Amino acid sequence: MKIFIIGPVQMYDEVLKVRKADFPYFRTDLFSSMMKNNSQRLASLIGCKNHNNLMFFTMSGTAAMEATIQNCVKDSDKCLVINGGTFGKRFCELLKCNNKKYDSIDLNWNEQLTEKHLAPFDNKGYTVLFVNLHETSSGQLYNIELLSNFCKKNGLIFIVDAISTFLADKYNMDRYDIDVTIISSQKGLCCSAGMSIIALSNKMLHRIEDIHPTTQYFNFKDYLMNMQRGQTPYTPAVGIVHEIDAILTLIDKIGLDKWLSKIEEKAKYFRKKASELGLVIPNNYTLSNAITPVYFENNTANYIVQKLREDFDIYVNPCGGILADKLLRVSHIGNTTLSDIDYLLEKISLILDKNNKEGKYDRK
Ligand SMILES: *Cc1c(COP(=O)(O)O)cnc(C)c1O
Repeated sequence: MKIFIIGPVQMYDEVLKVRKADFPYFRTDLFSSMMKNNSQRLASLIGCKNHNNLMFFTMSGTAAMEATIQNCVKDSDKCLVINGGTFGKRFCELLKCNNKKYDSIDLNWNEQLTEKHLAPFDNKGYTVLFVNLHETSSGQLYNIELLSNFCKKNGLIFIVDAISTFLADKYNMDRYDIDVTIISSQKGLCCSAGMSIIALSNKMLHRIEDIHPTTQYFNFKDYLMNMQRGQTPYTPAVGIVHEIDAILTLIDKIGLDKWLSKIEEKAKYFRKKASELGLVIPNNYTLSNAITPVYFENNTANYIVQKLREDFDIYVNPCGGILADKLLRVSHIGNTTLSDIDYLLEKISLILDKNNKEGKYDRK
């Protein structure tokens, strides 16, 4: 089996080894110190000065997005969402579901976010901006500087879902005055699905004092208080805490720069080789190193995703909705190599050649 999925990814042996083991009881000093150590190392990777502002939740990324809305947004807030695909739309749905006021900047899937999209929303009384910095559904990596400057100029709270960009592209929370960073265990961290981590700025730490969410499990104040002793209010996904410890140790050993450059190398290699094969990679917007979308004019994307799975036990990400037949996505995070990419492209090529014979033309 070869996994080119954005998450859960092809895992590293260091993490797989941990997954097999039994986990000792967790309300202990030993577990507390592992939590604190994880928190300190993650804070440094996120670029968040204060590691006491991190919270560990046992929940998927979407729950972390919703918990952020419940804890960080006031009823009086006027929110703005960058909506360039599935995950931007999800912020809109969650805000609506939680009765918060919002407007959205709606982009076509292949439309790059620029200054001109933001201009009409300048000086219009907005108080919070939401973005999925890497919109995973299209692969677009938004311009963090553009968004950060817009937030500063307008005095906006800046909330970033960094789930699919963290540990794939460079990221720094403090440098860009980000107030909330959301990440999940199954993407850049290459661990099992089931944990999300939320980091707050000091400004957000003060802001949540006055917000009283009608939720018990998701109450940030409980998590922040418990984190001071290296614990969570309720039983965490103990195994994933151990996995995170293992992957952070590996990243430490490799070094963040080298970790990121390995992913960048895989992304560049795939894009070059795929183009040489005549595959079409959208080039009118900036791509994250985490994933590469491949475009099939003749509606064979979903067919290729299925054939790769059924005939070769290779997994790539399909797309949902109207793009299902047009686009598939290949992830570059996880324990894959350049020769794995060769293998994948060889199999895609085989499928396409067979298609060509049958008159389904897919190449440029
Ligand atoms: C994967 C992902 C999520 C989380 O989705 P869940 O299925 O709830 O874990 C959220 N935002 C982005 C940008 C993602 O890529």
